[in-house]
Amino acid sequence: MSGMFDHALAKKHIAIIGAGCASLSLAALANELPRAQIHIIESSYPAHADHVWGFWAMDWLDRVRPLVRKSWHKWAIVTEHSHSIMHTAQHPYQAISRHQWLAQCRDQAIKHGVTFHDSLDAARLDAEAEIFDSRPPKVPDGVMLQHFAGFEVRAPAGSFDESTAILMDFRCDQSHGMHFIYCLPFSDRDALVESTMFSPQQAPQPFYEKAIADWLTEVAKITDFDITRREAGVIPLGFFARHDPDLRGVGANAGAIRPSSGYAFGFIQKQIHHALARVKAGKPLAFDPPHRTVDLWMDRVFLSVLRHQPQLAPRVFSLMAARLNGDEFAMFLSGEATMKLRLKVILAMPIWPFLRALFRPEPDAS
Ligand SMILES: Cc1cc2nc3c(=O)[nH]c(=O)nc-3n(C[C@H](O)[C@H](O)[C@H](O)COP(=O)(O)OP(=O)(O)OC[C@H]3O[C@@H](n4cnc5c(N)ncnc54)[C@H](O)[C@@H]3O)c2cc1C
Repeated sequence: MSGMFDHALAKKHIAIIGAGCASLSLAALANELPRAQIHIIESSYPAHADHVWGFWAMDWLDRVRPLVRKSWHKWAIVTEHSHSIMHTAQHPYQAISRHQWLAQCRDQAIKHGVTFHDSLDAARLDAEAEIFDSRPPKVPDGVMLQHFAGFEVRAPAGSFDESTAILMDFRCDQSHGMHFIYCLPFSDRDALVESTMFSPQQAPQPFYEKAIADWLTEVAKITDFDITRREAGVIPLGFFARHDPDLRGVGANAGAIRPSSGYAFGFIQKQIHHALARVKAGKPLAFDPPHRTVDLWMDRVFLSVLRHQPQLAPRVFSLMAARLNGDEFAMFLSGEATMKLRLKVILAMPIWPFLRALFRPEPDAS
């Protein structure tokens, strides 16, 4: 494999199965792999409907900036008993549209000579070709999931405070597990409002829709709104086997989803950033999970608390919001914490539930 990047003339063929976030984000940077010919294998598998990707601005996300729909330097975490506003100087929370990002990546990929095929056979690859698989990992039943449904709504002017993203508002039905409302106000009239749960069981669609309607009317006091777009998703939280054990992965299929939060977009860009840096350093192309071992260990403990004591979630997140500043919160959730910051997070947590979780066996690790 390493020979491919050493040889001055021959191009190594690299095929990526799937045409989602990871494969197109990589293909857009094909010019940074001048000794490789990249092939994207698009299946007839239904593409995701458009949705918003939220993430915190970090230096490896600079190329995303032109497509950012909105940035928030303030965000809120709200419970029945607390209302924390976190401010950031350097790492605003940002949102982009999936379809816009993928369309831009596809255009750049085509410009850099990436080819698109219906199947591996159609790509007519030689035996030396490298194949990476971006299809989702195998998710066994019973693991923790982040499951959600959202509406983009249009309401009368002045309905939303567009300066502040609401990352979590726990003033909603907590009877089925950890549940919060996520609200990204794009203007004082338009916002994405999602009902999000962390639990092993998805809820029926009306559960999320009622939660959103209740929050809009009873908490945000907005009774007059139109639904302009809908989105929904299920993100597995944990540590999963690859889609095909014989193929190396990229993206979620190479451990890019942060197990404790479900955030993936920023981590996929980080994973690609690291992979390209490795190639520039003369190493083979490979996609590793973009998380540090210590963060994954903390995530296991955290997920165990959320699974077994979901009623603690509002307190856990409000304590974190009270102890960290916005930049620390963004760095921690983006996998960029220092040991000092990790310790600060650990010390902010209620001790007994986390100690118990530390010693609780979790065979599926989630
Ligand atoms: C509605 C929604 C909202 C989200 N919001 C956020 C967010 O705000 N922030 C964030 O960081 N993350 C978010 N995520 C998670 C994130 O979008 C995904 O984890 C991310 O897209 C994973 O990228 P990927 O390239 O690994 O997989 P994908 O983008 O899913 O690409 C996988 C590719 O494989 C193809 N494929 C899938 N299954 C098969 C199959 N069986 N056979 C053949 N081909 C297949 C697909 O068509 C696709 O081309 C959200 C996800 C959803 C669904």
